[in-house]
Order: sequence, then structure tokens, then C-alpha cells
Amino acid sequence: MEYIILTVVIAVVLLGAAAGLVVNGRRRRQLPPSPPSDTSLGQSTRPAPVGTATPTEPPTAAAATAAAPAPETALVTEPEPEPEPSEAALTPALDVPEPTAGRLVRLRSRLSRSQNSMGKGLLALLSRDRLDEETWEEIEEVLLTADVGVQPTQELVERLRTRVKVLGTRTPDDLRTLLREELLALIDPSMDRTLHTARHTEAEPPRPAVVLVVGVNGVGKTTTSGKLARVLVADGRTVVLGAADTFRAAAADQLQTWGERVGARTVRGPEAGDPASVAFDAVKEATAEGADTVLVDTAGRLHTKTGLMDELGKVKRVVEKHGPVDEVLLVLDATTGQNGLVQARVFAEVVDITGIVLTKLDGTAKGGIVIAVQRQLGVPVKLIGLGEGADDLAPFDPAAFADALIG
Ligand code: GDP
Repeated sequence: MEYIILTVVIAVVLLGAAAGLVVNGRRRRQLPPSPPSDTSLGQSTRPAPVGTATPTEPPTAAAATAAAPAPETALVTEPEPEPEPSEAALTPALDVPEPTAGRLVRLRSRLSRSQNSMGKGLLALLSRDRLDEETWEEIEEVLLTADVGVQPTQELVERLRTRVKVLGTRTPDDLRTLLREELLALIDPSMDRTLHTARHTEAEPPRPAVVLVVGVNGVGKTTTSGKLARVLVADGRTVVLGAADTFRAAAADQLQTWGERVGARTVRGPEAGDPASVAFDAVKEATAEGADTVLVDTAGRLHTKTGLMDELGKVKRVVEKHGPVDEVLLVLDATTGQNGLVQARVFAEVVDITGIVLTKLDGTAKGGIVIAVQRQLGVPVKLIGLGEGADDLAPFDPAAFADALIG
């Protein structure tokens, strides 16, 4: 009898120990990986989510029977102590934006789909047996339809005429290479497309880089500010957003939502408040926080040119009390064609534009606008928008763009 009781006790103890191992092992697998020591913004600085780790209680026979035979349900049926709601548990998870370097791959395919009708059209015309005046006129027409602009179109046609003559026999490969070279020359790979977003550590006191985002309503200005915040966060910068579009009620909320997804704080003012004072506060707070970059989303009502001039000019002047503005990015909707060029001229009169962001290039075959707008303003296209997705904003690359135009 004693022998039987002893055997039962040993069996229970062994089962209990085995159950403890199973339960602990499973819990360990559920724990999040320990955060890396990197302190740049992103998931790494977040506290580990709570609620998945519980203190290990000593194994019991009940736990043993619950854990051993039903591996998938064991942890669910086991009564867990309710975790205390903490700040970390209430903080929404941050997105990890896609690295900027990899974006070009996606960029190429989005562009080709909408753009290469121009390249295909040109190649077909240049491959004709006889390149008569009518054909050259058709070539001109294709370029004008793609919004390349009158002056660049004439230059390109002249260059193509000369080079085709020199070429003699025209193989499809020769024509493709020639056209690519000439388009690339018009896009001008020599322009400096660097985005100046690095913190001024040499300044006293050190201050963040300031980027003003300007453009008329509806071009994708707020969306671009949000996407750009992600680009910068992906590149390891800390970003503060300034919601200086105080006239469009939804703009500040929209911007704040973008910022929250990547841990960028948004400085806001009262509705219909003074945009310049919001911009000023954003730079002041970003300086105090030691942020790298401030992105200021401005209002874009264009119904009175004078009103816009006054407002934008004031925003820039007021912000410059902290130090010079590093970038003024003009956002243009590529689908609006010539209208976009008119807008570009108006804005260029108001502020010194340092770069152009062309949005909605995924939805148009009029990619020639890149050439026209750079010519008109003498300012490079620095970024292009290729869709409504959060990471559909890419640094502009002339060679990839020329390839996409040709298809
Ligand atoms: P804002 O008034 O200039 O601030 O314009 P919003 O940022 O609110 O954008 C207007 C609309 O354009 C939104 O529906 C955006 O999703 C859309 N949009 C912005 N950029 C792009 C882009 O690159 N491609 C496409 N297809 N849509 C875009």
C-alpha cells in the first residue's frame, strides 16, 4: 500500500515538473524580442508590449493536466491574472516605414504602367521606314501631349533629327538608346536633388532643419508631408510636424494621424488661427526637443493671389526668426498639366522654392511635366508621389524615370 502511495506521489511530482517546463517554454516563445539599443525613432524605442509575460507561478498538478494533453488550448484555458493597463499598453503600435532605398524598385513599375505610352509612341514613330515631315510633326505631338512643354519639345526634336541622320540605319536598340539618352539629358541628371533635412548641430543653439511644404489645396500637400515624415523616420531622423494649414479643418487631424503612425509629434494651433504662429511654435518646440527636422504643412487657398502671397511670405519670415529655412517644397499634382505650371509660377513669386514634389504620377501618362516644370522654375523635382499608400513617395531618380518613360 505504502509502495503504491509513494508511486502516485512521485508520478504527480514528475507530471507537475513536466507541466511547468511546457508552460514556461511556451511563455518564453510568446515574449517579444528584447529591444535593440538603437535610439533612433521607430519600434526600437518603444517599451515592450505588456500582457504577454506573466510571473511564473509554481507548477501544479492541475496545470500539468491542463497543459500536457492539449497543447494549443492549454494557455487559453489557464486562468491568467488580468494585466494592469499601463501607458505602454495604451500606446498604439508604430509603423515601421519602408526604407527609402528599396522604393525605387516599386517606383519603376508604377511609372512604366502609366508613362510608357509616350516612349512606345516615340519609338514606333522613329522606327518608320521614312521619317518625313509629317512623322516629325507626330513626334512633336506625342511630346506635347505628354506635357514636355513647347521649348523642350522643339529642342528634343532637333536633337533627334540630327542624331537619327548620323545614325544611318536605325535598329530598335539604337533608337531606344538614343531616345533614352536625349530624354535623360532633358531631365537633367546634373541637378542637385538632395533634401536638406539634417539638424544644424553647428548652430548655437543647435536647431532642426526646417522644411516648408507649399502648394494649392488638393494637390496632395498634407499627404506628402505625412509620407515625407515617414521617409525621414525611415532614414533615422526625428521629426516634428507643424500643422500650419489652419484653414482646412481636417488638415491638422489628417497630419496628426500620419505623424502618430511613426511617432512624430504634431504641433497644432487653434482652428482658423494664425498659420505663422503655428509654424513658429513648431520650430521652437522641435528645437527644445532636439528634433532633427520640422515639416511645416501650409495652407493652399489660391483664390486670391495677394492673400496667398501675404500668408506664405509671413510664415516664411516668422519661421526664419529661428534661422534660415532649409527647404521649400512645392507640391504639384502631375495630372493637372499646364495648370500645375501656372501654380508653380505663382508660388515661385512668393517664396524661393528649393524643390518640387510631383504627386499622382501613378495616375497620368503626362510624365513630361517633370521636364517642363524644372525648366520653368530652374528647380529640381526631388520627390515623386506614386500612389495613395503610406510609402508611395520616392526620391526622384532621373535615370530610373527615363527608363520608365521608354518602358
Ligand atoms: P492637400 O489639400 O494638398 O493637403 O491634399 P491631400 O494631401 O489631402 O491629398 C488629396 C488627395 O490626393 C488624397 O486623396 C490623397 O490620397 C491623394 N494623393 C496624394 N498623393 C497622391 C499620389 O501620389 N497618388 C495618388 N494616386 N493619389 C495621391
